[in-house]
Amino acid sequence: MTIEKQKTALVTGASRGIGAAIAERLAADGFAVVVNYAASEKAAHDVVAKIESAGGRAIALQANVADPAQVAELFDHSKATFGVPDVLVNSAGIMQLSPLATSEDEMFDRTIATNLKGTFNTLREAAKRMPDGGRIVNLSTSVTGVKLPSYGVYAATKAAIEVMGDILSKELRGRNITVNSVAPGPTETELFMDGKTDEQIKGLSKLNPLERLGQPEDIANAVSFLAGPEGGWINGQTLRANGGMV
Ligand code: NDP
Repeated sequence: MTIEKQKTALVTGASRGIGAAIAERLAADGFAVVVNYAASEKAAHDVVAKIESAGGRAIALQANVADPAQVAELFDHSKATFGVPDVLVNSAGIMQLSPLATSEDEMFDRTIATNLKGTFNTLREAAKRMPDGGRIVNLSTSVTGVKLPSYGVYAATKAAIEVMGDILSKELRGRNITVNSVAPGPTETELFMDGKTDEQIKGLSKLNPLERLGQPEDIANAVSFLAGPEGGWINGQTLRANGGMV
């Protein structure tokens, strides 16, 4: 009897919100999970503890995805712990809303550095190191479809991520690695809730015909499909997970 090696999933920005739900779901799916975080050390360790108490394997690894050297180390450390990641999920992201006319350079640079450069940094490492048969899922946003005012800088980084991922899916020809994006609509996490009034939240939750906010688990379900055995024929696509908003 051959014993199959347990596959590894690296989830960036997995200390909170959608990334944490993805890490827990992929652990339940049977992956050994690397829970990446930037600052929320305790939250990341709580995610690991939750996975372990459910019988899974996980480790928390700190790395700022915007820094290429830290991302290279993240892959090195992942390899040394659980093996080279078979699955990469880019969930680390920030969102600051502002109309273009009043957007500050600092906000623009920081959003590009975390969302776009951060995803570029991990995609480059994955392109070099990921074994044949791997899966990559990038978190985009459904705002690339609804184009709401004040989301310009943020949505631009996500549109770029979608295209970069689609092109990578073609560059990886011959290695049986898929690259897709999942584009959530409004999802109940700190990123979405912070700075919004109850009225704004209620309004945004009614944009979809199911009339509720997404939950992190709704998004984790979509990622699980793309990262799992049944999603293998989906490649170079964006799956909007938003209850039908757009
Ligand atoms: P949260 O703000 O709840 O969590 C963000 C996560 O990203 C945290 O774990 C945070 O870690 C991590 N992170 C932030 N900056 C960095 C960095 N430089 N390096 C490594 N990790 C970092 O966000 P969500 O869970 O809501 O969002 C997850 C993804 O989904 C994002 O890419 C977001 O753009 C996307 N999305 C979210 C939607 C929503 O409505 N919530 C809708 C559409 C898309 P730490 O705490 O350690 O800083």
